[in-house]
Amino acid sequence: MDNKNNILKDLPKIDKLMTDSRFDGLNSEFVKISARNVLNSIRNEMPEKIDTGVIFDRILKQYEVLVKGTLYKVINATGVPIHTNLGRAPISKELFDEASDIVCGYSNLEYNTEKGKRGDRYHHAANYLRMLTGAEDAVIVNNNASAVFLILNTFCKNKEVILSRGEMVEIGGSFRIPDVMKGSGAKLIEVGTTNRTRKSDYIDAATQKTAMMMKVHKSNFEIVGFSEETALNDVCDAAAEKGVISYYDAGSGLFEKVLPDSVCTDLTIPQTIKNGFDLISFSGYKMLGGCQAGIIIGKKDLINKLKKNQLMRMLRVDKITLALLQAVFRKYLKKSGESLPVNSMLTNKDLQSKAHRLAEMLPCSTEVVSISSTIGGGSCPTSEIESFGVSINIKMKPQAIDKKLRNHSTPVIARITDNRLVLDVRTISETEFETVSSAVEGLL
Ligand SMILES: *Cc1c(COP(=O)(O)O)cnc(C)c1O
Repeated sequence: MDNKNNILKDLPKIDKLMTDSRFDGLNSEFVKISARNVLNSIRNEMPEKIDTGVIFDRILKQYEVLVKGTLYKVINATGVPIHTNLGRAPISKELFDEASDIVCGYSNLEYNTEKGKRGDRYHHAANYLRMLTGAEDAVIVNNNASAVFLILNTFCKNKEVILSRGEMVEIGGSFRIPDVMKGSGAKLIEVGTTNRTRKSDYIDAATQKTAMMMKVHKSNFEIVGFSEETALNDVCDAAAEKGVISYYDAGSGLFEKVLPDSVCTDLTIPQTIKNGFDLISFSGYKMLGGCQAGIIIGKKDLINKLKKNQLMRMLRVDKITLALLQAVFRKYLKKSGESLPVNSMLTNKDLQSKAHRLAEMLPCSTEVVSISSTIGGGSCPTSEIESFGVSINIKMKPQAIDKKLRNHSTPVIARITDNRLVLDVRTISETEFETVSSAVEGLL
């Protein structure tokens, strides 16, 4: 122990380290933090000897992490446009610019400029949603998970919610419908069987305590074979017949049908509301193509009750969310929703030549291959869309290539298909080709 302590006495002092020419021109605060972290780690490691060269290298490595940040850009070469781990729907620079006046300054977020009085934060989004969907009113919360929680807590606390057994889904590991129900104070009444639920199942399960009949979009799986899903309007009809609320957790907020029915049969939100649901909620950054948000549309009196729930204050969204959503809604109003990044990625008909353009830029042997990609984000979980990719044909295991690309200064997240590494061009922007090329160059 004494011996180790003696060795640690040889550790260089921070002030001394800082004056070394290797740190010239670097941000001195970041160098100081890095040096402190590295020296602290070395003290814990109890080294046999002190190697100053290694210490400098470690400090510079830490410094690079600080400069780059821990949250940084990556290139999505997986072909999955709504990739939850990579941040779901990207937002175009155009939309971001439109929102920036509001985000970077002051706005009438909660101020009525005409009357010179406090205004309502949510009427901005509600106006657009009325026009786009035909719903009576709307409110926005932090994400769709909080929308589900808020709705159940407001209307179903200590009451019963009827839900089909086939729709007790888990989404992304941490969002399980039965657990959310329990947390909100609602009592879950399961009806039907895993593969079959009929309208009569809902009607028969209704009691004095029933407050709601709920339907959940089966976002990440499909039951195939002998199955029967209660139609959307059947759930609405059953709820109306029993005088309870009908609610649909639509998961993804599809506003414009960009894919043919042969690929994705999901209804759009405007189509869904026509079924007669009292409330519908969906996510802001799946098919809608916006930012993280939970969007609730439906009957005015119900939306009013939601706004009065104390939880609303905890789930409230800020000007960044509302400004971005406004920009997205305006796109759909102008009937140019197909130009939103997620939509244009899904409908791109130029993928084969795009793959050839990328292949031409790469400094190694490549092959343009026909593949299929999924949509992601719980939209049409089993459907695959035809895509094109560039396969990297070098003498290296695909897993090793994958690892190197992931560790490039701008990481490239690729996919391995049929034991080859493929860059799916659906989700790579042409402006990123140069970066992809330098990442591939790093392999050689
Ligand atoms: C994605 C999803 C959610 C969660 O939405 P977030 O916006 O990620 O909170 C809830 N329900 C369904 C059916 C979903 O598909």
